[in-house]
Amino acid sequence: MTDTSAAPPDSTADADAALKDGSRIAVIGGGPAGSMFTYFLLDMAERVDMRLDVDIYEPRPFTKPGPAGCNMCGGIVSESLVQNLAVDGVWLSSDVVQRGIDSYVLHTDVGSVRIATPNDEMRIGAVHRGGGPRDVTEAKWESFDHHLLSNATERGAKVISTRVEEVGRANGHPTVRVKGGEPVSYDLVVVATGVNTSILKTFEGLGIGYQRPKLTKTLIREYYLGEDVIAQTVGTSMHVFLLNIPRLEFAAVIPKGDYVTMCLLGDDIDKELGDAFASAPEVRAIMPEGWDAGAASCQCLPHINIHGVEKPYADRFVFIGDSGVTRLYKDGIGAAYRTAKAAARTALFEGVSERAFRENFMPVCQSIHGDNRIGEYAFVLTRIAQRLRIMRRAIIAITRDEQANGRRPRLSGVLWDIFSGSAPYSDIFRRMFDPMLAVRGIAAMPGVLVSTIRSTELAPGPFRHSDPGTPEVKA
Ligand SMILES: Cc1cc2nc3c(=O)[nH]c(=O)nc-3n(C[C@H](O)[C@H](O)[C@H](O)COP(=O)(O)OP(=O)(O)OC[C@H]3O[C@@H](n4cnc5c(N)ncnc54)[C@H](O)[C@@H]3O)c2cc1C
Repeated sequence: MTDTSAAPPDSTADADAALKDGSRIAVIGGGPAGSMFTYFLLDMAERVDMRLDVDIYEPRPFTKPGPAGCNMCGGIVSESLVQNLAVDGVWLSSDVVQRGIDSYVLHTDVGSVRIATPNDEMRIGAVHRGGGPRDVTEAKWESFDHHLLSNATERGAKVISTRVEEVGRANGHPTVRVKGGEPVSYDLVVVATGVNTSILKTFEGLGIGYQRPKLTKTLIREYYLGEDVIAQTVGTSMHVFLLNIPRLEFAAVIPKGDYVTMCLLGDDIDKELGDAFASAPEVRAIMPEGWDAGAASCQCLPHINIHGVEKPYADRFVFIGDSGVTRLYKDGIGAAYRTAKAAARTALFEGVSERAFRENFMPVCQSIHGDNRIGEYAFVLTRIAQRLRIMRRAIIAITRDEQANGRRPRLSGVLWDIFSGSAPYSDIFRRMFDPMLAVRGIAAMPGVLVSTIRSTELAPGPFRHSDPGTPEVKA
């Protein structure tokens, strides 16, 4: 570590901590947060006629199939992010977005229901972060992370395709060192490393007040089914599962190109839990006949940030995306977008001092933090639903009624936003307690009680692969 004792936080005079022509910025990590930060910074700098030198340190070859090129993720890009990026001039073309997800299908042990997009033009995207799963033979699609990184390099950033080994401080400026190299001094270091990296520990040793976020393990599997089979089975829906499996908070099966991605979030997910989920009848019902749950093309167990960093900034340092503050369980790429943009705006227009980041960048992190606290309560309710069969019956009954009879999508809208991560948790939580939703719940109760008492007699048939467009219930 280089001179970790030097330059305590806030020691830089604010006047010296403004970016100017020729300022040098290191972005550690070229995932969504790092690439979007760079794109916004260079875009805004051009508008004010300032020339900045930005080095992005990123060792992953994002076009390469398999783990080497992949940033391990479910790959859902929320509709709000698709729209925000478009407004900012970042187009997600059809070779990047592998499938427009036009509906969710919620599966429980007491039935399934399809929830159509609340608004026809709001399609969310499903992307591969890298070159695709390990056994991809033909690159039909562009990697999402490669696409964003290209947007950053087109603005003039330089990519240094290697891992940062060490970060330090010398003469009041941060330094970055790669393997076999000398420390290089920068005016600003932007940390966008995500959480699946050992480098974050280094920042705790710098004495800048950074403490790593709280993490938990997740599981992702990719299965090759082929486009045609996917069209007949999983379709263009994202399938989400409310199953009473301990430690499982959220599970989804997402169609992408020739593959489907299975994604499990919860409390320290492991391979056994992945196997238990994959063998659940509700999961097998959406997969093709004879599907082999053990034949995944790829599997990984990445960490996810479940409690963000209290102080994601310091003098000439800012932590964006997962390495700082992100949304709980949902829309991590959207949170990377928000923190990246706020950091870029602050650095360019307010400076790179601790004070500048505290006053201008931190409010965005606090708003995500605060919303996550409300999200925790929303997830308590979904946990209760996982345990209480009568509640699952009520959810299915109300949602089916809304979908089949064209009613205002009160519960459907809540579920859509929980699954897609498109709305703030505060908004979702408020709508969960909508009195009109309670009225619908009361109206559905007689039917729910009858079907609870006579559950086997009333059980409709299984989820039909051949007809994924129909609101459907199974037992
Ligand atoms: C199971 C799972 C499913 C998810 N599903 C979704 C989803 O569907 N939609 C969604 O929006 N979000 C999802 N997320 C969250 C999403 O993946 C993250 O929020 C998002 O990737 C954060 O972007 P980032 O740029 O901060 O970090 P990352 O995407 O992790 O990128 C960090 C980059 O830093 C690089 N790096 C690391 N260390 C170094 C180093 N020492 N030197 C140089 N470079 C380094 C890495 O190579 C990497 O490219 C999911 C997460 C998990 C775990």
